[in-house]
Amino acid sequence: MTRTLDVVANEASTCTKCRLASTRTHVVFGVGNPNADVLFIGEAPGQNEDKQGEPFVGAAGQLLTRMLGEIGLTREEVYIANILKCRPPGNRDPQEDEIETCTPWLVEQMSLIQPEVVVTLGNFATKFVLQTQTGITRMRGSVYPWHGRKVIPTFHPAAILRGGGEKARQFGELQEDFALIKRTLTEPEPPPAPPPVTSLVEFERAAEGTPAVTDDQLELF
Ligand code: URA
Repeated sequence: MTRTLDVVANEASTCTKCRLASTRTHVVFGVGNPNADVLFIGEAPGQNEDKQGEPFVGAAGQLLTRMLGEIGLTREEVYIANILKCRPPGNRDPQEDEIETCTPWLVEQMSLIQPEVVVTLGNFATKFVLQTQTGITRMRGSVYPWHGRKVIPTFHPAAILRGGGEKARQFGELQEDFALIKRTLTEPEPPPAPPPVTSLVEFERAAEGTPAVTDDQLELF
């Protein structure tokens, strides 16, 4: 039987699979709509998140909430999670073995939520999801196909704050990426490519520029 997000969250809340269990206050599993079209993935909980048990509630979270608002979304409509569910002491970078041990929780979240779009915030999330070594500055600004879904990498809001917030050089690019998220969620899919030419007659017609039989002609039969 498929587990629900609540069941998985409950199981994760007592996780002791890595060293971070001994220094955390709360496991920060994730928050939002379990049927969200868009999943945001950050790096790891900070001090505020560790205290409150909810991702992105500190300064970086306020910027994320504001950027969501700019494209007409609320925190309740999307789902927000992190690569690591427990705070690394002193907000140090996640370590390789911690990522390996913790990410099965995230994979289970993704497979239960089935989001249409995954937004990776910063290097750690982008590298994990897209299995790339390329940095966020080069990865951002594009939509990447991924298991029949779409991944949109962008800067981590904390990096924007460190760079001066709205005055940061990358703030405009963050806004562009959020506009891209909105377009990706609202624009209809392009029509599928026409099927390849299969018969010699069709091949010759195509070569001569003669239009092949159209769909509405076929409806006559
Ligand atoms: N930074 C993150 O990557 N995640 C949080 O939840 C908060 C800050």
